[in-house]
Amino acid sequence: MKIGIIICNRYRDCGGGKCFRSVRERHGGFSKYPAGETVEVVGYSSCGGCPGGNVEYVPEEMIKSGAQAIHLATGLVVGYPPCPNIRRFKKFIEERYGIPAVVGTHPIPKKYMDVHRGLPFWEETKMAEIAGDLMGEAENVMKAYD
Ligand code: SF4
Repeated sequence: MKIGIIICNRYRDCGGGKCFRSVRERHGGFSKYPAGETVEVVGYSSCGGCPGGNVEYVPEEMIKSGAQAIHLATGLVVGYPPCPNIRRFKKFIEERYGIPAVVGTHPIPKKYMDVHRGLPFWEETKMAEIAGDLMGEAENVMKAYD
């Protein structure tokens, strides 16, 4: 399986450690891939900054490198405020490029989960509908990503 990762530009200087760790460990958004299947990250970029213009173009390059799915990084879900365009990005990538856009990379760190559970945004936007792999992660795994 070959994938591309798009991160929130607010975290463009992030070293990507949690994302790459979760690829190896098959946690979070990567839990959908069997442990025995090789997952190769063929592209890693940011959205380009609000409102996310790079999402229109960068999947094309990733697909040329073999990407079969695009993962929208967990930072889009747990930054505050969470990205207001996640659903638009997912819909656009899937319509325009015909490959899955998966919401989530690494598990949500527990310290962020504890804060977000008490805030209204996730419920208002029905985040669990599109980020189920993250919301359903075991608490001990979330804690391991604090
Ligand atoms: S909030 Fe969304 S559109 Fe804005 S920089 Fe982050 S990912 Fe991009």
